This record gives sequence, structure tokens and C-alpha cells, in this order.
Amino acid sequence: MKLKELGKLTGSFSATEKMPALFLGHGSPMNAIEENEFVRGFRNAGKVLPKPRAILVISAHWETRGTYVTAMEHPRTIHDFGGFPKELFEVQYPAPGSPELASETKNTIKKTSVGLDHAWGLDHGAWSVVKHLYPNADVPVVQMSLDHFQSPQYHYELAQELASLRKKGVLIIGSGNMVHNLRMVAWDKLNTTDYAYDWAQEASEKMRGFILSNNHKPLISYSQQGKPFQLAIPTPEHFLPLLYALALKEEKEEVTLFNDKAVAGSLTMTSVKIG
Ligand code: ZN
Repeated sequence: MKLKELGKLTGSFSATEKMPALFLGHGSPMNAIEENEFVRGFRNAGKVLPKPRAILVISAHWETRGTYVTAMEHPRTIHDFGGFPKELFEVQYPAPGSPELASETKNTIKKTSVGLDHAWGLDHGAWSVVKHLYPNADVPVVQMSLDHFQSPQYHYELAQELASLRKKGVLIIGSGNMVHNLRMVAWDKLNTTDYAYDWAQEASEKMRGFILSNNHKPLISYSQQGKPFQLAIPTPEHFLPLLYALALKEEKEEVTLFNDKAVAGSLTMTSVKIG
């Protein structure tokens, strides 16, 4: 039976086949409107994904004290950036919200009391990439915030509690960048394909190795992995969404990388599909 038919028969958030989990390297907000190899990578990923009943996004761009989920019926499109063309500020991604998924997420998490949020919406960490996966904006999207005051280990454990949602038709997406050092961006190399500083290259290779060998511990303790990791992850918010995706991996599940390239020396777009 197709997911859609099952949903009609049994109401929302009942058991379905297990949805994959994703980490998406979102990069520049301009990826929302540009045509490039990364956008094509997102689109191709979207083509092979089952259509979820709803999407739960953990974006680098929503940090709070405590953990919140967006619980409104119609999340607004937030243009949380400056200095970009007018065209980018005009983009709307009118996907509905899902108060049901917000409540279900709140009930699923035992580690902390998750708050229901009615003020946020969809920030560019969510809409600039989800729009390429589901261009019709016909899948409800809920965001979950990153608690700025918690450790990477805490985030990993919190993410593990979300695993049951995968079997209820929910696509969980972490959105950030594994290597993300904006202060060191080589602006003159913006259009050079796959240009990485040596440290970025080294960090990226190690991250790739840890991910593909299911060795998550060194990624959780990234701050102890030496200089290349310190330069790659100057602040945690773009890296933590990766831990949310990895924490959902079950034994023997397939892990695939895509968009595995560097941009402007100090950023990588490497994205991960689990399952
Ligand atoms: Zn970002």
C-alpha cells in the first residue's frame, strides 16, 4: 500500500515504511534561486525520496534556550540574511505547518520539555533546501530549534529519541554545513569548483571517513580532533544538524554522500542520506 493511501485510511502519523534521514549542506542562501550543481544534487535527492507525510527540519539558523518546535498552521518564510538581491527576499515557500507533528515531536522527546512555538516559521536553513526537494510546497514542514546551551553529546542523544518518527512518515532533515568558516571564505575563489584550504580538505576527509565507517564518537567530540576541525567548526550551529541525522542511523542502514564538494576554501556542501 502506498504511503498516501495508508494515511487516508488511518489518519495522520500512523505506522509507515521507514523514511530516510538527511543532512543537507545548505551553503549560501543564493542556492535557493541559483541553478548550480548543488541545487541539482538536492533535486536528484528529492526524486528518489518517498513523499513524506511531514518534514521535521533541524536548521543551523534557529538557536534557542531550550528546545522548541514550530506549531503554527502556516509558517512564514523568514528571510534571515542581509546583503542579497531583492529576488531572494521575494521567495516564498508556503508549505503548511503541522501542529500534529509538533505535538507528536513534543510527546516523543523525553530528554527535555519541548516548547510549542508560534512565532518562528521557516528560516533559510529550511526553505532554501526543502524547496528543491519538494518544489510544490505540498508537504507540511515543522522546524525544531537547537538548544544553544547544550553539548554535542546532548544533541546526539536528543536526536536519537526522534527515531520513531521515521516510521510514521516523517522525513527528518538536519540542515547546516560540516565545514563552515565564514571568516576565512576565499571570496576570489567563489566560482572555482571544489576549492578547499588544506585544513578544510583534511577536516572534510576525516569527517567523511567517520561518517562512512559509522564512527560517530569523534564527530560528537569534534572539538578534540585538532586544528583542522577547530577551523572547520568555529561555532557549533552548522555542524550540530549533522549529528541529528547521524544519530538516527540504525545498524546496517545504508549511508550515501552527495554534493560532496568544497566552496570558497572554507565551506563544504557535503550532504548525507541515511536509509
Ligand atoms: Zn547557514
